[in-house]
Amino acid sequence: MKITKVETLLLSRMHERHEQWVTSTLRIVKADCPVVVVHTDDGLTGIGEACAYGGPGLMQEWIEWYSRHTLMGKDPRSTAIVPHTSGRSWAHDCAVAGLDCALWDLRGQIEGKRVSQMLSAAPLEKVRLYASSGCRYDWRIRPEQLIDEALDYIAQGLTAMKFRIGTHWAWDGVTVDRFLGLVRELHQTVAGRMDLMLDGNQRLSEEQALTIAKELDRLGFTWFEEPIPQTDVDGYARLNGAVHLPITGGEQYTTLEQFRPYLEKRAYGIVQPDAGICGITELMKIAEVADRYGIGLCPHSWHNGLMCMANAHAVAALPNPKVLELCMIQGPLQWGVLAEKPMIEDGWLTLPDRAGLGVTLAEGVEEKYPYVEGNYYIEVAR
Ligand SMILES: [Mg+2]
Repeated sequence: MKITKVETLLLSRMHERHEQWVTSTLRIVKADCPVVVVHTDDGLTGIGEACAYGGPGLMQEWIEWYSRHTLMGKDPRSTAIVPHTSGRSWAHDCAVAGLDCALWDLRGQIEGKRVSQMLSAAPLEKVRLYASSGCRYDWRIRPEQLIDEALDYIAQGLTAMKFRIGTHWAWDGVTVDRFLGLVRELHQTVAGRMDLMLDGNQRLSEEQALTIAKELDRLGFTWFEEPIPQTDVDGYARLNGAVHLPITGGEQYTTLEQFRPYLEKRAYGIVQPDAGICGITELMKIAEVADRYGIGLCPHSWHNGLMCMANAHAVAALPNPKVLELCMIQGPLQWGVLAEKPMIEDGWLTLPDRAGLGVTLAEGVEEKYPYVEGNYYIEVAR
């Protein structure tokens, strides 16, 4: 069997005005979905979603380069043909990640096995989801929207939620005290019905983060993600050592080597690589090494359904599986990219009983979601 073509489909959908959301100083206006498709001479195709944050146009160029120079005519069963993430270029690494996922999908189909079965001798049949959002609330308008949102997810059967710290704090004089007031109100409303995680999106100082971490610890939060700038390994180590709840991060890292200092210094309590950013191959390597340090892995998984499936198979195969992130604000492109949405019930996603990633692209997806050039956000000033 030979690879005959590798291509990248670029898909987009503009959010309606009322569906746009502001986090920090960014208004998110568009959903993107780059899909790597590997074709073979016997008609099988593998598909994988690359993280759109790598820049869809640049990623497409990298895939074209690999298609022409290293992949055409090769046997897709050979793992030696898969390029490696390098940690130097996000566009390159996200492209490689999408390609890696597509090749896993293809190899699963060739072997007649689910990807999770190729990664583990005893994978889970379904994975627990957490609703990932809490991005819509605006400190100026009505921050309690966050609580309405949590109640809505409970009504949908979800049992865990991750939220963010909202619009730019300086615009409205938001303090740690004011923020923690909202956190306690949310916790009180959902306690016993929903596990909670907070994502600081690297926006806090270590002092702010420590105060918040201690309160989240007291309230029994599941984790506190990226409280401070990502590269401050020692700051992460101090925070992670100061509280019982895990301080987590690493969603933007693409290689095991980038995670090593965090593992050695116990700077993360949980690591969060993403199959759409580092590939399934590298994610499983990171999981194996983290496990040796007694550190778990809960993948970052934002954007669309195809990436969700790659991360779902990885979670199902982890040594100590916990939860999978489910983006709640991507709009119709999220599942519209797939011919069939996988079964999601009572907060659990069941892996389809089909080989590979178990999903196929929806027909006419390029006509339905034509690519829109330009950034997915606009910078807002108030
Ligand atoms: Mg995050």
